[in-house]
Amino acid sequence: MREPVTAYIALGANLGDAPAAVKAALQALDALPQTRVLARSSLYRTAPVDAQGPDFINAVAAVATRLTAQALLQSLQQLELSAGRERPSRNAPRTLDLDLLLFGAAHIDSPALTVPHPRMAQRAFVLVPLAEIAPGLVSAQQLAAVAGQRITRDG
Ligand code: AMP
Repeated sequence: MREPVTAYIALGANLGDAPAAVKAALQALDALPQTRVLARSSLYRTAPVDAQGPDFINAVAAVATRLTAQALLQSLQQLELSAGRERPSRNAPRTLDLDLLLFGAAHIDSPALTVPHPRMAQRAFVLVPLAEIAPGLVSAQQLAAVAGQRITRDG
């Protein structure tokens, strides 16, 4: 059997009851096959970056999984769909957005999947919750680079 890999997943929502959507997604991650949640950050409220609509609620989770990165991504996309995500346009407001940030030490660059996530270092809504649960993965320099982006702990 495959060894479990520690993966980091960013969660975000900015439509409807966004905190409820993120909390439900954290539970759904723990219910994925061959996957369990090891750690979850607080919820954060953030200003939209390259997107429209109300504030986002964001969080980051660490999971241990025996799924492949591709299978994990597919599971994340199914969770997005079941949360009712519609995609009228790129970066439109969304009920649930799930991004695979890191998959162990893997570097993947396929048409469907890029890991580490190429934009994670530019986003306070990823780096701040990631630093909360995995401080060794985020440097002070990286946090300083996104210090201008509004982010507050929401619970
Ligand atoms: P988004 O609209 O930001 O959720 O982007 C989803 C698209 O990005 C899908 O077509 C995915 O196949 C692709 N993608 C590439 N790398 C990743 C990743 N690390 N996590 C999530 N989606 C990814």
